[in-house]
Amino acid sequence: MNITIPARSIPVKETVQVLVVGGGPAGIGAAVSASRMGFDTMLLEKRGFLGGNVTASYVETCNYFMKGTGFGPQGIAGEIEADYDRAYPSDDVRPGAPHRFHSECLKVYLDDLLKREKVKLKLHSFVNEALVSDGLIKGVVIQTKKGPQAIQADIVIDCTGDGDVAFAAGVPFEQGRERDGLCQPGTVSLRLAGADTAFLMKDGDGLRELSRRFNEEYRAGKTGLPCYRQDLPFGRLTQAGVVSYVNYACSYRLDPTDPDDLTRGEQECRHFILDIWRYMKDNYPGMEKTEIASMSPEIGFRDSRRIKGEYRLTVEDTEGRKHFEDCIAEYPRFYDMLTPDPMMLKAGDGELSGGGYRGHIYEPIVDQRYIEVPYRCLLPVNVDNLLVAGRCISADHVAESGVRAISLCTMTGQAAGTAAGLSLRGGCSPKKISTGELRAILKAGGFRLSETGA
Ligand SMILES: Cc1cc2nc3c(=O)[nH]c(=O)nc-3n(C[C@H](O)[C@H](O)[C@H](O)COP(=O)(O)OP(=O)(O)OC[C@H]3O[C@@H](n4cnc5c(N)ncnc54)[C@H](O)[C@@H]3O)c2cc1C
Repeated sequence: MNITIPARSIPVKETVQVLVVGGGPAGIGAAVSASRMGFDTMLLEKRGFLGGNVTASYVETCNYFMKGTGFGPQGIAGEIEADYDRAYPSDDVRPGAPHRFHSECLKVYLDDLLKREKVKLKLHSFVNEALVSDGLIKGVVIQTKKGPQAIQADIVIDCTGDGDVAFAAGVPFEQGRERDGLCQPGTVSLRLAGADTAFLMKDGDGLRELSRRFNEEYRAGKTGLPCYRQDLPFGRLTQAGVVSYVNYACSYRLDPTDPDDLTRGEQECRHFILDIWRYMKDNYPGMEKTEIASMSPEIGFRDSRRIKGEYRLTVEDTEGRKHFEDCIAEYPRFYDMLTPDPMMLKAGDGELSGGGYRGHIYEPIVDQRYIEVPYRCLLPVNVDNLLVAGRCISADHVAESGVRAISLCTMTGQAAGTAAGLSLRGGCSPKKISTGELRAILKAGGFRLSETGA
């Protein structure tokens, strides 16, 4: 059954040149780069803080997969890590990670960064309508306690992770696995207090050892826990006994855009968190006295809608290291896809050749292999002045499991923000800008981009 909502007029709250929706890794890259191009830029974020999954799901160890590979974060992502470290020296006693944020400090750091970079910010601004006419997006509608308000813009960049703006603008999309539309599981993360840091660290990294042990116990069918999660990754461990991130609770077969599925996922994950906490207390020395400090504020997703763009990046492209003349990011080749089928975990890890249909895919970085992301993946079909960045760009499901890497999301954001600036400067559609010029600016900003795209 449908009902018709009567047309009503709503206030235009503001008009800007570049409007970025979503304040996660991609949105930060997009907003900072558009503002640096000299354009009046605003960022809208539905939550009360910035950082996306890094702060909302405690994913503080963003680039764990780069450890020892010779690759590092590029452009604004690299600038942020270095600058953040100066402002907030680490309290982490674990060795070996390339970099770890303290997600609560990162919230403050990002607030300050956007102020310094002259980006206007509106938190608590949920966007679910786009103002589109004649193939152009004129702005968006935010839902506020004061009712809906319109923000107008010349160019909009969708960095919502879920492609909410593109969806509202009528852009076609894919979601989940090609065969059945299933996404990777959603996760609510756990933060613990009261770990025995001295004990855990007395013979090296005791948390790493617990992760290894849990995986062994899971595979041997010994845990007796209802959650189908074979891994137990941890974040920072501090002298104060805080384990900042336990990435365990996984709820499967959820549509990340459906409120009923989200409700089920949040509730299921909370129980899984209690289960794993009790399991650790009962079985793992050093964890006996832990308390739950917090559960992350909202269930987080690794994939969701992927918008239909002018080009769709495929696993064949990334495996074949396909070269693109409009390449805007070269990034180490790896894939990390939690299986959408919980039962498959019992059968062991999947392989890339299974295309996401045979279990969890994890392909680490090997040699100096890298993938190329073409600019056209950021350009949605049908709407001329809309760009998309982050995990919802145009890609197939397995390729997305590499594209979703946090620092790559900041890079695609940076490319989108720079492209928006070039489009405004040239008075042309983002689809018509010079990709040579775009690449040159990104390269000057710290991106590694091979001369010929080859
Ligand atoms: C538990 C977990 C562990 C992970 N581990 C890793 C890891 O170790 N390494 C790694 O590289 N990646 C990891 N990922 C994936 C990574 O976090 C994401 O791929 C990445 O954060 C995507 O960045 P993004 O900016 O595209 O989207 P997000 O981080 O999802 O940010 C989107 C932002 O947009 C806002 N938003 C959404 N919809 C709207 C709307 N309609 N209106 C206004 N604002 C909106 C959100 O509140 C959010 O702030 C993990 C993800 C999860 C959930």
